[in-house]
Amino acid sequence: MTVLERMGIRAEIEERAARAGAMTYVKESGRLAATTSTEAFSGELEILRGDLVDILSERTAGTTEYIFDDSIAELSQDDSGVDVVFAGGVTRRFDLVIGADGLHSNVRRLAFGPESSYVRDLGYYASICTVDNHLGLDHSGQILNVPGKTVGIYSARNNTEAKALFYFASDPLAYDRRDADAQKAIVAERFAGIGWEVPTLLDGLRTAPDFYFDSVSQVELDSYSRGRVALVGDAGYCASPLSGMGTSLAVVGAYVLAGELHAAGGDHVKAFAAYDIRMKGFVVACQKQAVDGAKWFVPASKWFIKVRDLTFRLMPYLPWRNMIRDMSLKVGNAIELRTYEDRRPRRAVPLP
Ligand SMILES: Cc1cc2nc3c(=O)[nH]c(=O)nc-3n(C[C@H](O)[C@H](O)[C@H](O)COP(=O)(O)OP(=O)(O)OC[C@H]3O[C@@H](n4cnc5c(N)ncnc54)[C@H](O)[C@@H]3O)c2cc1C
Repeated sequence: MTVLERMGIRAEIEERAARAGAMTYVKESGRLAATTSTEAFSGELEILRGDLVDILSERTAGTTEYIFDDSIAELSQDDSGVDVVFAGGVTRRFDLVIGADGLHSNVRRLAFGPESSYVRDLGYYASICTVDNHLGLDHSGQILNVPGKTVGIYSARNNTEAKALFYFASDPLAYDRRDADAQKAIVAERFAGIGWEVPTLLDGLRTAPDFYFDSVSQVELDSYSRGRVALVGDAGYCASPLSGMGTSLAVVGAYVLAGELHAAGGDHVKAFAAYDIRMKGFVVACQKQAVDGAKWFVPASKWFIKVRDLTFRLMPYLPWRNMIRDMSLKVGNAIELRTYEDRRPRRAVPLP
C-alpha cells in the first residue's frame, strides 16, 4: 500500500478494486460449513491482475517503449551492456536487462540456467478461469473442499461474471504447457464425480474465454542478478498463488530495484547487491506464508477439513479473531521501505 501511495496509483486501484467480499465454505450437499471475512480472503485491497496491468501500462505508455508479440531469444553481456537478440530477429543493446516474465521466466533461463535448478513445486496444481455468475453471487464466493482438492467460484467485475478456481494436490505432472485442452482435461478428470456445483463449473471451464493452469511453485535464488541482468517479481522470487503475496512482492520488488538503481546513481553492481539484501527477508516471509497456507486452503483429509471449518466458525468469538488478517499484514510489512529521495531534477523522457 505504501508503494502504491508513493507511485500515486493507490486511488485508481481502489476505484477498480475487485471487492471480492466474504468467502463461504460449503459441503458437497451445498450446506454451509463456515465463512471467512473479506480481509481473510482478499486482504486490504484486491484488484484483478489484468486491471492492474492496464493501470500500470496506461501510466507509462508515454515514457516506456512496449514491444508486443516478441520475446528474447539470446542474451550476451559484457562490461558495458547487454546485447539482446529478439525472437523476431532484431538485435539491440541495453545497459541492463530486467526480467519480469513470471514463474517460467525466459530471461532467468538465459542468464541463470535451467528452470529445474530454481523452481520448487509445492505439490499442488491451480487452475482458474472466467465463468458465468450462475449462482448470482454478490461480491462473495463459495468454496468446497474434498481431501486434497479445492474448488470454488467467486463473483468478479461487479458481479457481471465469476471466476472458477480449482486446486488439487498432485505429484509433478507431465503435460504440454501450450495445450490448453489437454490441461482442461486434467482438471476435469481430477474433479469428476464431485457434487455441489462442480459439474457446472467444469462445463464453464471447457468453454471459458480465458484459462490458467500451472503447478503451484516457488522460485528460490541466492541472488536476483547475474551481471547486468536482474529479475523482478515471480521470475526472481515467485511465492505461488497460495501465498497471496505475489503481487505485493512484484510491486515492492520493482520499487526497491528502481530505488536502489537511483540511489546508486546507476551503479548496477551496488544497486543489485542492495536489492538482494533488502528483498531477501521479505521474500522468505511471503514464501513461508504459502507453505503454511496450503494446509488450510487445500486440506489433505476429511478430518482436517472439519477442524478448519470448526476453527473458522469459532473464529469470530475468539480473542485471536483477526489472526488471519494480522498474519497477512505482518508478512506484507516484513520489509522496511527506504524513501529514495530524488535530489536531481526529474526528467521523464517522452518517446519520439
Ligand atoms: C491463480 C492465481 C491466484 C493468485 N492470487 C494472488 C493473490 O490473491 N494475491 C497476490 O498478491 N498474488 C496472487 N497471485 C500471484 C500473482 O498473480 C503473481 O505473483 C504476479 O502476477 C507476479 O507478477 P509478475 O509481473 O512478476 O509476473 P506475471 O504476472 O506472471 O507476468 C509475467 C509477464 O511476462 C510475460 N512473459 C512470460 N514469458 C515471456 C516471454 N518469453 N517473452 C515475453 N513475455 C513473457 C507474460 O505474458 C506476463 O505478461 C496469484 C496467481 C495465480 C496464478
